[in-house]
Amino acid sequence: MDRSVGVDQINQPSITSCVLLAVLAHPDDESFGIGGTLALYAQRDVQVHLVCATRGEAGEVSPEHLQGFTSVADLRVSELRCAAGILGLSGVHFLDYRDSGMPGSSDNRHPQALAYQPLEKVTADVTHYIRLLKPQVVLTFDPIGGYRHPDHIAIQKATERAFFAAGNPAEFTDGSSLPAYTPQKLYFHTIPRGMVRMGVFILRLGGKDPAHFGKNGDIDLASIASVSFPTHARIDYRPVAKIRDQASACHESQGGGNMSVGLMGWLRRTFGSTENFMQAYPAPANGHVARDLFEGVS
Ligand SMILES: [Zn+2]
Repeated sequence: MDRSVGVDQINQPSITSCVLLAVLAHPDDESFGIGGTLALYAQRDVQVHLVCATRGEAGEVSPEHLQGFTSVADLRVSELRCAAGILGLSGVHFLDYRDSGMPGSSDNRHPQALAYQPLEKVTADVTHYIRLLKPQVVLTFDPIGGYRHPDHIAIQKATERAFFAAGNPAEFTDGSSLPAYTPQKLYFHTIPRGMVRMGVFILRLGGKDPAHFGKNGDIDLASIASVSFPTHARIDYRPVAKIRDQASACHESQGGGNMSVGLMGWLRRTFGSTENFMQAYPAPANGHVARDLFEGVS
């Protein structure tokens, strides 16, 4: 199976040497979470690459969306290919693990389920792509995986470990003879807490339980609201907001076309002019909030 989706053919490679690498878990994470940031840097001629650890096999998909596809994975890769073209990504690279689903689902028990792989195995894969693509800036989820999805947490741990291992020639030599490479900055995407708390408030007002949010009722918004992360970079994506919405709409089987309606649409319009990041490395300056992830990159 092809590990890379060749979006290079869609978007001309740029002559810049700036590279941004996002390491995420499922098709749609790139658009729903950080689509504005990815689109913005692609427009600035940064080579934006995505490592996607799974093909989203455990996603809930209605039968009409599956027409013309042989599997959920095929459908979701196709949706990702659509989004990647719109966002202007230079490459999409799969790690070929399997979507673990939410805790307690039968997908947890699949031998390839991402969340249940040894950390060192996933780290070796991410290290390979850091050495291959040579990004100055690496992005991934926050330590609770945004909304506590086990796959998000697993790939966050592996990416953080790989970020520091990639520059050490003694670690994860995979026989590919790629030289060690040290990226300069590591950021974790964080969901704005104001948005989460507002969601909790509105759900309670409507008599709904914020501990069972989302299409499948498996997102505990109340628990997410109780954890805070500092904001060290705030990316204003308004110049590419339409691109972000179009890319989200590619993920039709995951409700991407509904991102601008209902409670989610209102929250996105109210809080949605920036994407926020916590700087994991190097240690951020006290109180400083960067407007550019490449600030200070040499
Ligand atoms: Zn995800």
